[in-house]
Amino acid sequence: MESLSATTKIWTRESGAVEKRDVWTSMKRGFRGRCPRCGEGKLFRAFLKVDSNCSVCNLDFTPHRADDLPAYLVIVIVGHLLVPIILWIETDYSPPVWLQLSIYLPFTLVASLLLLQPVKGAVVGMQWALRMHGFDENNPEP
Ligand SMILES: [Zn+2]
Repeated sequence: MESLSATTKIWTRESGAVEKRDVWTSMKRGFRGRCPRCGEGKLFRAFLKVDSNCSVCNLDFTPHRADDLPAYLVIVIVGHLLVPIILWIETDYSPPVWLQLSIYLPFTLVASLLLLQPVKGAVVGMQWALRMHGFDENNPEP
């Protein structure tokens, strides 16, 4: 009779060949639009279209599931930058509404567009580093 450990392999995170993935390094590389693993290849093939794989290390980018998280994060970031400034200017200076809108609306639009791709890259980098979704090659589930 064989022992249980000889016949069945119990999956643990340590049982597979685990590649070391630093979350902050991966997020910084993604923020710069680079591959989270090698930091060299391009992450995006269009403004918000993630490429299918890295041109340098051939990492498969298709398992990412950024979905709406980058947009939510951009709203939070831009809102936390803009709202205190708007409140401070309104309470201290009370400029006319047309002047405020002519400054705040374009600023919001430009800041959101500038942040959207880097934030999406950082989210993809975080997902890769944390082995989320299909980025864990040792995941026993299909
Ligand atoms: Zn790469």
